[in-house]
Amino acid sequence: MFLLTPGPLTTADETRAAMAHDWGSRDRSFVELSASVCRDLAALVPGDDLACVPMQGSGTFAVEAALGSLVPRTGRVLVFHNGSYGARIAEICRRIGRAHTAIAHDELAPLSPAALAEALARDSAITHVALVHVETGAGLRNPLAELVAVCRGHGRRVIVDAMSSFGTLPLVACDAIIAASGKCLEGPPGMGFVIARRDALAAAHGNAHSLALDLADQHAALERDGQWRFTPPTHVVAALRVALDRLTAEGGPPARLARYQRNCHALVAGMTALGFAPLLAAEHQAPIIVSFRGAFPELYERVRARGFVIYPGRLAGHATFRIGCIGALPDDAIANAIAAVRDALAH
Ligand SMILES: *Cc1c(COP(=O)(O)O)cnc(C)c1O
Repeated sequence: MFLLTPGPLTTADETRAAMAHDWGSRDRSFVELSASVCRDLAALVPGDDLACVPMQGSGTFAVEAALGSLVPRTGRVLVFHNGSYGARIAEICRRIGRAHTAIAHDELAPLSPAALAEALARDSAITHVALVHVETGAGLRNPLAELVAVCRGHGRRVIVDAMSSFGTLPLVACDAIIAASGKCLEGPPGMGFVIARRDALAAAHGNAHSLALDLADQHAALERDGQWRFTPPTHVVAALRVALDRLTAEGGPPARLARYQRNCHALVAGMTALGFAPLLAAEHQAPIIVSFRGAFPELYERVRARGFVIYPGRLAGHATFRIGCIGALPDDAIANAIAAVRDALAH
């Protein structure tokens, strides 16, 4: 079965095989493994003096940990967004009691740096801006470098959910970048992480609303003796180690991006030939997951019977379905998935 979804994704045999071993979380070999994974994750982000703080759980746990730990209780977050993952950030702020302003833009168009500049100029109380790099609901790529430059120009801190772009699309230096093991890194799900400056993590003590999701505490424990505070997802960390080695062997993020772009082009061309139009304009499409118009109820089961998992769309008001371009897929996976859709249509 191949997962053409926003994650979890298809992983390589080698990555899955790394989970066939049991690790003691306090064992020296696991402590070294965990440190090497964090070091290599931090090295994928531009910027100085960065630390990667891992967090048990799915990506949302890491998003919640980042907001609760890095935004002081007196801060105010501007959630400037165009989709469901941005809306989730606003909901997190609401639940954990961080003052915030959510500005929702058109889900089919990238966030406008000019509109962000205007929002920041209007409200000097905003201390932090939260952005989503690729809105996985639609598959849309936001102009991260331009948006971050606007925040910097206005002297505000920036927290970026780069969940579905990390390890693939180019990143820029931010105050915090959040991602997870089970997306473009092609590891199994189960570990999120936040990459932030060491001084910002040190300054974050006492901010968190939660014990388990306190990034500053987690960071301090790892710095002290290499231990996670609570049971780490040992198998996930071990598999992510192999997945990171595979990323390097492939040629790093540029090579992975090129592979996903080939998948995306083949997918859009093949589906268009079957009569399914992509929801987004080509220039806004991230090579991560593609939303197509014209979903029909039997589609998912019929495509699944041919070995491919695809998902319904996530946009209100549009009958769409989504097919992912990411994961450790064989070269013929996209062509075979298109053939499966063709058969489902013919049925
Ligand atoms: C996957 C994803 C998340 C995290 O979702 P989880 O279900 O918690 O793993 C957050 N933001 C974006 C943009 C995502 O694609």
